[in-house]
Formats: sequence, C-alpha cells, structure tokens
Amino acid sequence: MKRVFSGMQPTGNLHLGNYIGALKQFIPLQEEAECFFCIVDLHALTVPRDPDDLRKRSLELAGIYLGAGLDPDKSNLFIQSHNPDHSEGAWLLQCVARMGELGRMTQFKDKGKGSESVTAGLFTYPVLMATDILLYQADTVPVGEDQTQHLELTRDLAERFNREYDEVFTLPHAQVTKTGARIMGLDNPEKKMSKSADSTFNQIGLLDDPDTVVKKFKRAVTDSENVIAYDPENKPGVSNLLGIYSEMSGEPVDSLVEQYQGKGYGHLKLDTAEAVIQVLKPLQERYREVMDSGEVESVLAKGAQRAREVSAETLKNMQEAMGLVPRR
Ligand code: ATP
Ligand code: MG
Repeated sequence: MKRVFSGMQPTGNLHLGNYIGALKQFIPLQEEAECFFCIVDLHALTVPRDPDDLRKRSLELAGIYLGAGLDPDKSNLFIQSHNPDHSEGAWLLQCVARMGELGRMTQFKDKGKGSESVTAGLFTYPVLMATDILLYQADTVPVGEDQTQHLELTRDLAERFNREYDEVFTLPHAQVTKTGARIMGLDNPEKKMSKSADSTFNQIGLLDDPDTVVKKFKRAVTDSENVIAYDPENKPGVSNLLGIYSEMSGEPVDSLVEQYQGKGYGHLKLDTAEAVIQVLKPLQERYREVMDSGEVESVLAKGAQRAREVSAETLKNMQEAMGLVPRR
C-alpha cells in the first residue's frame, strides 16, 4: 500500500495557507494510502519558544488536524518527539548530508537572515525533515510549494545513502496543488502567508471568527486598477483572492474571473470571506468537539505506536548499512 507522510509545526495559529497547501490535501489521501501525519514539535525548537506555549499548541494542532477531517481510524496522527527514531535517524543522515547543500536552502537563508546567533538546529532542520519522510518509506508528501526544495534535498540524501551504503530508502515525491500551493499574505501578497509573520493581518487563522475573517479580507492589499484578472505576477493581491476563493468554493479560477467582470474588489473580498467562513465553520465545530472529548491524547498514543513499528525497521536497516553493531 502506498505511504504518505506530512507534518506541520505547532508554532502559531494555523492559517489558510496551511489548510489549502497541506491539510486539505490530506483528507482524500486517507482513502488510498497508509498515512502518517505528524506534529513536528522538534522542528519548532529550531527557534526559541515558550515551553508551555509549545506544549499547548501541539495538542491544539492535533485538534485542528482532526477538526479538518482526519480520521484516526484511517490515519496515524502523532507527535514527532513521541517517536525517538526521528532524532536518531536524523543523526545518521546528518553524516550523509553536506554543509554546502544545507547552506543553499532558501528557508534557512530567509529565517536565519545571515545571523551568527541562529541555532545549529535551524541549519540542520531539513535533514530531520528528510528523516521524518524516509523513515516511513513514504511515496507521497503533500506540502506547500515552499517545501519543494526540502523535498529535493530529501531525494538527494536518499539516493546518496542508497548508492553509498545500501538500498534502504524509497524515493518520495512532493504532491503540490495547482492554485493553492502558495497562498500569499493578505497584508503583503509578495510573500507567502506564514505563521511567523509579524502582523495578524497577514493570515486568516483557521480558528478566526466570521467577523475577524471579514475584517481581514476587507483590509487585504490589492492594487489600484480595479480590474479582476488572474495574473499572479502583476496582480498578486487580486490573484491571491481568486486562488483562495476557488480553493474554498471548488469553482475554477477562470469561471470566477468571468463572473466578477465589471465588479469591484470590495465585492470579491466579501464573497471570498464568505466562502472561507463556510469552510471554517464545520472545521471549528469539530475542533471544539474533539478538544472537549478528551480523546486527543489516546489518538496520539495510538498513532505513535504504529509510527514506531514502521520506523524501527527502517532505522535498523540504516544502522546495519552504516556499520553499527546490531543491538540485542
Ligand atoms: P512557519 O512560519 O513557522 O514556518 P508555516 O506557515 O510555514 O510556519 P509550517 O508548519 O512550516 O507552516 O508548514 C506546514 C505546511 O503548510 C507545509 O506543508 C507548508 O508547505 C504549508 N504551507 C505553509 N505556508 C503556506 C502557504 N502560504 N501556502 C501554501 N502552503 C503553505
Ligand atoms: Mg514553514
């Protein structure tokens, strides 16, 4: 059976970009593959965090996964640090990865901004991410466009390992959606919507109430032409609204463009907000149910148990191939 792996960091409020680029893709995959969905708390440690906040957000993220439609009877949902194979495997792969290739990762350059005081973890994080994926022999990794470079690194590391040691890893590929792979910030459509953005007007949070959603869309940055057209390069703000609207309503972008000819941006903003509210409403209801049910921790325990079963075998093969003495 095909395997799927994907993860999200418990680093802030999940937003529409996370939903459209990643989470929304997870749901249908549950029907056709064995899925491992992970709360990647170890990745969150790459920048300083408040410990209590991290713990709280990790459990909330589990609630959001379930609220968005993840079925714990079909998928394995777990916290990364509950399976120590990730850390151990990452050490082995760090000894395969090269400084040069890690230094070329654009996310490190963006988030590190060349500062001497960034953590070593931020630099090696793509290797941990590669390990996350490779431990489960995943074929498919549903992610946003910003992660495709890390996926290429994952394939390079897997190929190098398979060539230099032994054929241990399946080569994974990224599954990226067409219109939703890169949702832009509402306050700055030149940059992707991001949990770590400074302004709350950057993102639509998945737990935002309807009034907040409307308020944020009303303030979305567009342009001064007042022409509704899909042209991400020259009209990034309007194209972002059309992309979000299309992903939320299921209507193709072309037909939205046609429908909105001659109408103003205000109209498009309000209708996009409404389409978003319709999707968030049931997600938020399920989220609250799940958080109140007290089930989250048992779902996570079950997920981690299955995760360890699968990863243990890959880790053993890695150790053996690299010359470590088998454990008794
Ligand atoms: P951070 O700023 O802390 O890195 P993030 O918003 O990038 O947060 P992640 O947890 O790093 O969120 O990413 C989770 C998933 O969401 C990944 O698959 C990533 O590619 C996807 N994703 C993140 N931002 C967007 C976006 N703006 N559009 C589409 N997909 C996105
Ligand atoms: Mg990110």
